[in-house]
Amino acid sequence: MKVLFASAEAYPLAKVGGLGDVAGSLPKALKALGHDVRIVVPKYGTIGDVREDLGGFPVSVGGADHQAKLLGSAIGDVPAYLVDFAPLFDRPKVYEYPDDGQRFAFFCKALLDLMPEAGFWPDVLHCNDWHSALAPAFLKTTYAADERYRRIRTVLTIHNLQHQGLFGRDLFEWTGLPAETWNPEGVEFYGQLNFMKAGIVYADLVNTVSPTYAREIQTKEYGYGLDGLLRSRSAKLSGILNGIDYDVWNPAKDELIAQRYSKATVEKKARSKAALQEEAGLPTDPKAPLLGIVSRVTQQKGFDILIPALPQIAKLGAQVVLLGTGEKKYEEPLFLISKAHREFVTFLKYDEALAHRIYAGSDFFLMPSKFEPCGLGQIISLRYGTIPIVRSTGGLADTVVDIEANPKRGNGFVFTEYTPTALLDATRRAMEFHQAGKGWKALQQRAMGRDLSWKASAKQYAALYARALSA
Ligand code: ADP
Repeated sequence: MKVLFASAEAYPLAKVGGLGDVAGSLPKALKALGHDVRIVVPKYGTIGDVREDLGGFPVSVGGADHQAKLLGSAIGDVPAYLVDFAPLFDRPKVYEYPDDGQRFAFFCKALLDLMPEAGFWPDVLHCNDWHSALAPAFLKTTYAADERYRRIRTVLTIHNLQHQGLFGRDLFEWTGLPAETWNPEGVEFYGQLNFMKAGIVYADLVNTVSPTYAREIQTKEYGYGLDGLLRSRSAKLSGILNGIDYDVWNPAKDELIAQRYSKATVEKKARSKAALQEEAGLPTDPKAPLLGIVSRVTQQKGFDILIPALPQIAKLGAQVVLLGTGEKKYEEPLFLISKAHREFVTFLKYDEALAHRIYAGSDFFLMPSKFEPCGLGQIISLRYGTIPIVRSTGGLADTVVDIEANPKRGNGFVFTEYTPTALLDATRRAMEFHQAGKGWKALQQRAMGRDLSWKASAKQYAALYARALSA
């Protein structure tokens, strides 16, 4: 099968968050299954890995023909097309410019217009999040008369519904989409152009990054105004869990951690724990339960319930190490709590290597998210035998099973209510389990035994593509 995988980010060419991880690893796993997958991303100013000049092509948008360049790169053995149009993309950052609407509308049009120049006509166009979600709308309208485009099927993956790409009517006019698409059954959303909505309406199939999140976004609480539309499209909506790159995240081979270990030698993890305690300036007590947090510091990640619970968690005798950056309104109280409680240590920065050391060195990984489309933190920690304590939402609910509620299958500790009390109760249960010692090693080994690589999920994506083709 021929697949064009469109994304605003793809690691290592460009990465801001989880989308970059997925776009950098899922295509490789699909390629390993024998599919002809190619990635397309804008050529940002920060991308240096350009391997080929593939020619120029016109992009017709905003009432003019713009001359863009098509450059060739690669991620592993997956070819990558770079859309080079300096006025919109030759900048240091991926997002957060006032003209992001124009930038990604251009990208959506360009990824279709590059096909004749590339000589690549995919069976399936796989769009990811709002930045590429307008492409199915162009395909089904502007390009519908062209046989070469008409046979392309489209899949949209929603990685986070909170960000939809909302812009004014003037941008709609600029895109050149036919006037009839401006209605509530099309791309219009309460007087604005909504990229994500366009994708949901016009893509042949839509999926999210976990089965539970696929159900949740059909409710008012998680739907961000699109729940009604998603309910009406539920027949074409599904959920597929993200995997992690097992080459990057492997405690048996990880060169960034103090002591390598495997499922069979999990007791060696104690050495990584001591190293982390030392690095964080904590007493190197092997018995003190050590809780790690690696996270964006935002509302989504549960800081409204974590911050009030932290002083109590410290009083229970736990050590807590947090790595993260984000909103000041959370970073400031976190800093103050760390000053008042020496068991709570904060690293308010982004640091890949330290993240590895926290995953390897902690006994528990805390993830009390308000909502979580999939979540990678809990998946990585399972891989490292670090027991997750999570709120039951989205991908967390699909990957973590409470050991006390389900002793045969449990691999962590789970709570449901979005309150500091519920978080505290789960943490207390986890610490008691750890201190009792019975079954602790078995729990770590069970966590490490679950296959959370891309292998299984890539097969599900291939099946989704096949379904799109038969639609
Ligand atoms: P999201 O994509 O919503 O931020 P995920 O759990 O899906 O959350 O993925 C977050 C990824 O980013 C994980 O790989 C996590 O280890 C990493 N990460 C988050 N914050 C930091 C940080 N401050 N330093 C290093 N890695 C981080």
